[in-house]
Amino acid sequence: MSKGIHLSVVFFFFFSDFEDDDMYGQSVEDDYCCISPATGWLPLMHTKLYSCLDHMRTVLGDAVPDSVLTQAAIKCGFDPQRALDAVLCEKQDFSLKNISPGVSTKSRDASHNKLDSEVLPKVARMTVSGKKQTMGFDVPSTGENGVVVTATEAASKRPETPSKGSNGDEPMTGPTLSRSSGKARQAINIKAELEKRQGGKPLLNLVVIGHVDAGKSTLMGHLLYLLGNVNKRTMHKYEQESKKAGKASFAYAWVLDETGEERDRGVTMDVGMTKFETNSKVVTLMDAPGHKDFIPNMITGAAQADVAVLVVDASRGEFEAGFEAGGQTREHALLVRSLGVTQLAVAVNKMDQVNWQQERFQEIISKLGHFLKQAGFKESDVFYIPTSGLSGENLATRSSVSQLTSWYSGPSLLEQIDAFKAPQRSVDKPFRLCVSDVFKDQGSGFCVTGKIEAGYIQTGDKILAMPPNETCTVKGITLHDEALDWAAAGDHVSLTLTGMDIIKINMGCVFCDPKEPIRVCTRFRARVLIFNIEIPITQGFPVLLHYQTVSEPATIRKLISVLHKSSGEVLKKKPKCLSKGMNAIVEIQTQRPVSLELYKDYKELGRFMLRYVGSTIAAGVVTEIKE
Ligand code: GDP
Repeated sequence: MSKGIHLSVVFFFFFSDFEDDDMYGQSVEDDYCCISPATGWLPLMHTKLYSCLDHMRTVLGDAVPDSVLTQAAIKCGFDPQRALDAVLCEKQDFSLKNISPGVSTKSRDASHNKLDSEVLPKVARMTVSGKKQTMGFDVPSTGENGVVVTATEAASKRPETPSKGSNGDEPMTGPTLSRSSGKARQAINIKAELEKRQGGKPLLNLVVIGHVDAGKSTLMGHLLYLLGNVNKRTMHKYEQESKKAGKASFAYAWVLDETGEERDRGVTMDVGMTKFETNSKVVTLMDAPGHKDFIPNMITGAAQADVAVLVVDASRGEFEAGFEAGGQTREHALLVRSLGVTQLAVAVNKMDQVNWQQERFQEIISKLGHFLKQAGFKESDVFYIPTSGLSGENLATRSSVSQLTSWYSGPSLLEQIDAFKAPQRSVDKPFRLCVSDVFKDQGSGFCVTGKIEAGYIQTGDKILAMPPNETCTVKGITLHDEALDWAAAGDHVSLTLTGMDIIKINMGCVFCDPKEPIRVCTRFRARVLIFNIEIPITQGFPVLLHYQTVSEPATIRKLISVLHKSSGEVLKKKPKCLSKGMNAIVEIQTQRPVSLELYKDYKELGRFMLRYVGSTIAAGVVTEIKE
């Protein structure tokens, strides 16, 4: 089956109507990738097939050939879940033979035998109680958005007006919460608490992106080592083990690639997470997978990021390979921008391979700079740093290599991360957390992880899960392995929950304040920017809706209007089709209910991407929520 659409981009003043500091690039059109021939209109069966295949690929990536997926899809009447089960049940048969070639072939090791059998379980990691997780949700039995607030919830309502401090101090301004520890709930000022926490250092969620083998894991592993986050003994152990395995150059990457199969395969498959501190920030680091098989996992990481480090390989030919069609440099940069990341540090890595040549550094900056501008990054928010992840130059401290210092006197990577502007957190808004993982813990209850997008939470709180529109109690809150009484917007936390069955919670489910719940719908209107697609988008076009940690099959239900790219004025009502570069209002219908917010209310929960047969075809923002 041909992948008829390739990603290219036409970014205009897409988001400019919504916010000044989040503006996409100028009116420049650029075809980045080759376009394969259009395949014409899609009959209904193809529509169902593509939707089913797309769904399967979000779990399996490209690890299983199209022919196998197609067969399973047809056999199971295009029911993605059944088809997925069928494929996974037979995985032992084909997974050994059919892992996509070229994964890190030049690097680490070619001994993939062991890994292949392990790849599928790892990629389909999102499991709940041993049951394979489908992304999106099952249809809730109520189908209604009405929320019943129980008497206990009412009793545990937070004070809505500024209240007096426990010591009878002056009334506090700003949002307050009451501590659950101790018998009497004590109201505290969340903003003041946040300032006190971590020595006043704001939290920054950072994702590391870039083409496979650009050196992401080595760079960040080495940085963590230099910062003292990995002790000498452990590093020595990694060095010995990697040497023994014939992969000595990967010792630093092993700091991040924790699992055996990642080491064997030589690529980072999941989004690993760890923490380090700079002078002024506490940084949660997410090392995103670089191979295109793992793009859905990467989206999960990027959806939670405030800022990004894009790693590119400066070696001749390698930068070009990562930057060309099929390379991950462009798609990753576009994805993080679409997901709301505005500040970017570009580590021009492996500079040791090109003798620290200024010309090569400049050449890469000019090629990348042009693209990043079109992708919607402001020039003043992109910072280029020459690095070597292997030798450690310019990572934690400025380099002393004379070949570099003769022309570069800018910041080290760590200094740049420290200089990123801390994002504004919506602590004043009602509580929202989008689930990125669900797992069973020892003891009662279960755990979910995710980033708090808005508001705050404390132990003992009742929170509402949407779907399934049920409440549960927060028994514990963990941030960076530390148990806390409360956590607030921006924190990437793990919550221990009781009073609900784990099977009801899926990745992408949103926990919210029962008093002000998020809306759940299967139909919504959005303003979309169409990327460079070959097949025009018509009514009924099948897509995969990606937002936050959710990936849900959907269709374009209606084409409402085409808008002027910069003024937003309606150019045409009820267009027959949408083609590349257009700005339009469409109505989207999801297969199952999804929790969404209007972009104007919650940027993070109102922004999404549409994918089709493995390529990103549009970015959009929610403008109206239907039923
Ligand atoms: P990732 O796939 O982007 O995480 O890349 P890795 O960190 O796994 O690195 C891929 C390969 O590049 C490994 O062999 C590394 O040792 C090598 N490498 C990483 N950084 C550098 C660097 O700065 N200089 C050189 N010469 N090699 C590097």
